[in-house]
This record gives sequence, C-alpha cells and structure tokens, in this order.
Amino acid sequence: MNEAGLKRDLLAWYARAKRDLPWRKDPTPYRVWVSEIMLQQTTVAAVTPKYEAFLRRFPTLASLASSREDEVLKHWAGLGYYSRARNLRRAALSVAADHGGEFPSGFDAVLALPGIGRYTAGAILSIAFRKPYPLVDGNVIRVFSRLFGLKGRAKDPAFVKTMWPLAERLMPEKDPGDWNQALMELGATVCSPESPSCGACPVSRHCVAFKKGLQDKLPVPEAGRKPVPVKWTCLWIEKGGKVLLWRRTDKERLLKNLWGLPDAGKVEAAPGRLLAKASHSITHHALSVQLRAASLTVGLAPVRVARGFTGFLPPLHRNLSIL
Ligand code: SF4
Repeated sequence: MNEAGLKRDLLAWYARAKRDLPWRKDPTPYRVWVSEIMLQQTTVAAVTPKYEAFLRRFPTLASLASSREDEVLKHWAGLGYYSRARNLRRAALSVAADHGGEFPSGFDAVLALPGIGRYTAGAILSIAFRKPYPLVDGNVIRVFSRLFGLKGRAKDPAFVKTMWPLAERLMPEKDPGDWNQALMELGATVCSPESPSCGACPVSRHCVAFKKGLQDKLPVPEAGRKPVPVKWTCLWIEKGGKVLLWRRTDKERLLKNLWGLPDAGKVEAAPGRLLAKASHSITHHALSVQLRAASLTVGLAPVRVARGFTGFLPPLHRNLSIL
C-alpha cells in the first residue's frame, strides 16, 4: 500500500467533492460538538434542519448551559435518542463550571464530558482544534476493511479495536480534521455499505478489496438482528378541552422520562373507540401503536395513577401524527 499516495488522493478528492454541510462552516468547538452528537445514530438529512434550528435557539455554549432541560429536549424533538440531548446540556454545564465556559482542548478533559466517547473526542479535537487525534466509526471501519483487505465484522469489538492503531498510523500532522472527515465522507457517499461506487472512487487504485473483487464481502456482513415486536395502546383522555399527558418513568423500555399520551394500564381508564393506528421502529423495536379514546373511571382529585402522572395539560398535539 502506497500510504502517501492514498492520503494525497483522498485529501484532494475531499477538497473538491465534500458536501456543503452547515457544521463545516465556521467549525468552532461548540458547533462541531453539537453536530457530532446529533449525527450519532441519525442521518445527515435528518440532522441538517434540526442543527440549524437548534443553533438558532442555543447559539453559544453559555446559552445551552443556562437553558432548562425540557427546553433542550423540545428542540431535540425529531432526532430521537434523547439521552444525547440531556448529556449535551450536562456537558455544557460542566464546561461552564469547570472550564470557565471555554470548551476544553485536552483529550482527557474532552473525554470526561458527558456523552463524549473516543470517537467524538477525536472528531472535536481534529476538526475544531486541528489536533492529530484519529477517529473510528462505522464508515471508517468499512473503508479501512476494504482498502486494506481486512476481514472482520464491523460490530465485532475485537475487530474495531484493531482499527484504532491503523487510524493513528495514517493520521497526517497537517489537516487532521480534513483527513478524518475525508475518510467518513468517502464511507458515507462512495464506499457505501451496499453497492459501493468503486468506479467513481478516488482511491480505488489503492484498494485491496477492489483489486480482488471483495467489496461485497468486506467487512464481513453482520447476521441480521430480529426486530422485537412491541404493542402499545395509548389513550386520548380529554377534560375541559385539555388532554391528559403522562411523563414516562425511567423504568420504561422506550422513551424514558418523555411526555406523551398515557399507555393503557397506567391510568384508571378503559380503552374505547379506536382513533388511529401507526407503526414505527425505535432501534430494533417494531412498535405497533393504537390510539383509543378513553375516560377516566375515577375522579381526578385524588386519582390513583401510575408514578409520573402530573395532571391535565393543554393539548400540545391535536395532530395525531405525533404517533
Ligand atoms: S474502491 Fe470501492 S471498495 Fe475500495 S474504497 Fe473505493 S468504493 Fe470502497
């Protein structure tokens, strides 16, 4: 492998072909950090409009640190995996308290912040601080596996572990952020999981998988995970023009601590007429949801309901498409 040639070709391609993404303009530590947290488990297409709206509401780390958690969660709506938003705010508080409001530039200090792992620390330090820290994510694993002809499953921790020394060895001193982003960009736009576009690939002449026709076999495909079916019946309970909302507890399997319509069985109300049905997936859970009209079978004061209930609130979502 001509590693110098690989770096030159990939960086030249990235300079001319990179996507125009909002977090690539003015890559301050705060902007890069928010984008990296949002992009964990969420697509670029879903993140882009949310990112811009989030930064309009929380333009600085100080504004995020002084916000209420429910307000941050509200502006995270649609991105899912809400623990990321909670950690983002907790990390902002920590930066305000422990680092004088300035995002830290040391690896250990960044890694110590809530919600930041080795990958995210590497992304922030290389892109925003131009420090030569590598990163390894699913895109990088796939690209390395194919480029170097390395056999393994992309989610096998032992295989992933072998990627870090390789990423460290390849890391250029100059433009480390561009190098990391070029690797991920190649994985996201050219060297895709299914049917990679080898004919348009800027580094195909260096690629072992391409030369050996192994693109579809590397990394070794994962055995499919069977979806877990989950059935929910949610209740639409009105009183005086208001709708009963329920805060899910932290014991729930999904959507912990979030507000929503109460599940049947959580309040003393019999499910009645079917109002709507919907299907939705959250990670490997295949949800099948029914919304039914209901009336409480006991009065409101006092009403015996599950922990987490706090009363009637004005309707937030008349449009049932929230399901
Ligand atoms: S030649 Fe094909 S398999 Fe190799 S890195 Fe490029 S897109 Fe991926």
